[in-house]
Amino acid sequence: MKVTIIGCSGSFPGPDSPASCYLLEAEGFRLLLDFGSGSLGALQRHIDLYEVNAICLTHLHADHCLDICGYHVARTYGPAAPYPKVPVYAPRDAGRRLAAAYGMPEEPGLETAFDFVALAPGVFEIGPFSVTAGLVNHPVETYGFRAESGGRSVAYSGDTGESGELVRLADGTDLFLCEASFLERPELPQGLHLTGRQAAEHAAKAGTGRLVLTHLVPWHDRLRVLDEAASGGYDGPIELARSGAVYDLA
Ligand SMILES: [Zn+2]
Ligand SMILES: [Zn+2]
Repeated sequence: MKVTIIGCSGSFPGPDSPASCYLLEAEGFRLLLDFGSGSLGALQRHIDLYEVNAICLTHLHADHCLDICGYHVARTYGPAAPYPKVPVYAPRDAGRRLAAAYGMPEEPGLETAFDFVALAPGVFEIGPFSVTAGLVNHPVETYGFRAESGGRSVAYSGDTGESGELVRLADGTDLFLCEASFLERPELPQGLHLTGRQAAEHAAKAGTGRLVLTHLVPWHDRLRVLDEAASGGYDGPIELARSGAVYDLA
């Protein structure tokens, strides 16, 4: 399995990264986890525009899903249209919500390009991937994902505050993409996001092989996020996500 970070900027694109988007590849199958603002552009540095086979959306905040709208144009009106529909596994009501974001009537909405599948907690197969979805701790319906293929595994937190479910999803994974949006401060808001320290605490409990801190908010000093992660009790490798970084888990 190969994991490419397309976008890792938290809440909105930064100068050097789109918002959340991760490309997972195995056996020639290409699965996107999230499709946040700006990621459709950067994605084309890595694969052809039409090579996406499936998409999973953690939640429907703009920084995790809005480039579905632009991708709808590419797949509906591109030179070889119609292209095969891409399944989009997303929280309920995603088709209607994203059609509204686009400014499209509900019928046909975005269904010329996508088949929306409502997520629920559990395990399902997408191409060569066995994907586990679990509800994490964020103000809207939000899933963390674990994807396994060929004996390798990756977990992605989505957006979340502290979450036992996230520890379960990341349990024993080779790679853990964990959000670290906040810097430490007194009275951190609950049920929203994690700090670097909290991300590392989750990684330690999960026993993951490598922790990558992501959803890095542009107004923060990211080296401080990394410093804070060092106090989380995790003794494996920790690094900051970077758009374009590739992790070959084969
Ligand atoms: Zn976010
Ligand atoms: Zn969010």
